[in-house]
Amino acid sequence: MDKRNILITGGAGYIGSHVAKQLLQATSHNITILDNLSTGSAKTLDTLRSIREFAFVELDLKEFAQVASLLNAGNFDTIIHFAASIVVPESVTNPIKYYMNNTVNTTNLISCAVESDVKRFIFSSTAAVYGEPTNLPETGIDENYLTNPINPYGMSKLMSERVLQDTANANKEFKFVIFRYFNVAGADINYTDDKLTPRIGQSFPNATHLIKIASECATAKRAKMAIFGDDFNTVDGTGVRDYIHVDDLADAHIKAIDYLQENASDIFNAGYGKGYSVKEVIETMKKVTNADFTVDIAPRRAGDPAALISNNTKIKSKMNWSPKYNDLALICQSAFEWEK
Ligand code: UDP
Repeated sequence: MDKRNILITGGAGYIGSHVAKQLLQATSHNITILDNLSTGSAKTLDTLRSIREFAFVELDLKEFAQVASLLNAGNFDTIIHFAASIVVPESVTNPIKYYMNNTVNTTNLISCAVESDVKRFIFSSTAAVYGEPTNLPETGIDENYLTNPINPYGMSKLMSERVLQDTANANKEFKFVIFRYFNVAGADINYTDDKLTPRIGQSFPNATHLIKIASECATAKRAKMAIFGDDFNTVDGTGVRDYIHVDDLADAHIKAIDYLQENASDIFNAGYGKGYSVKEVIETMKKVTNADFTVDIAPRRAGDPAALISNNTKIKSKMNWSPKYNDLALICQSAFEWEK
């Protein structure tokens, strides 16, 4: 394997730190993490340093001149870009934040990448680009499904996808992989002993994501939680999502680096191809943790589609990706152990 210079933006954050962990553990690539530490944490960086050394740059991507200097000096061949705002309801109330942080800053990063001769760009996109699928196919949503975001978060990511595609069309040397993440959850699986003891996980201060919230209830950090809508057209009326363990998702990014050596730019769904309802997730969390907590029914949340389930045939066949932690109970258990 060639030794590469890799820049990870948002590497102190939830998904970025799991990718950094795998790269530091399993490869000898030179790693640079860029993060503004707004949601990512210095503690996570310390944990990563205990694996091996890497460079860290504390920087906000909105500092265009500094981003340009970093890329000019860095001699990076690959950028893995996570840094973004990611909360759907917040994007509805504060859309400008999302278009600035996600679309504008990403466009600048892509521009600097091309200027600095970076050849590969791996981008975190989202299933939110598909919006509210009408007639959800039995086999899940594939990458050719109509993109039609119903919230600013999804649109901010779709716009960045388009910038990447157009840039790659105009610059033959520049290639990308776009991953459209379904619902990422769980924490660091580290089977060096027979216990599940995550070293890194999701430490977003004001959690909004379902499994994180349920794990906060299971550890009694939070007294109760709400189900946002039980009148959707789904199995039990609650929203259905395709939950993927963060370490399986991270593994796809590691594969993408070498994939781009031989293959053309492409878009891949990242999910397990199986949906669980909000009620099923909460029941599973209660069962694996032996905890009980109050769950209220609340109105639907703005911008939430009824169901999002991936078709993951493409990533499995073309990228040879085979998930290892495809198990809702394990996802809930690892989130809970991290929360503890
Ligand atoms: N959800 C819920 N209660 C919560 C948080 C989330 O009922 O406290 C629901 C939400 O309405 C959606 C699903 O759980 O149907 C997943 O939401 P999440 O915010 O985790 O991810 P999203 O799909 O919005 O990216």
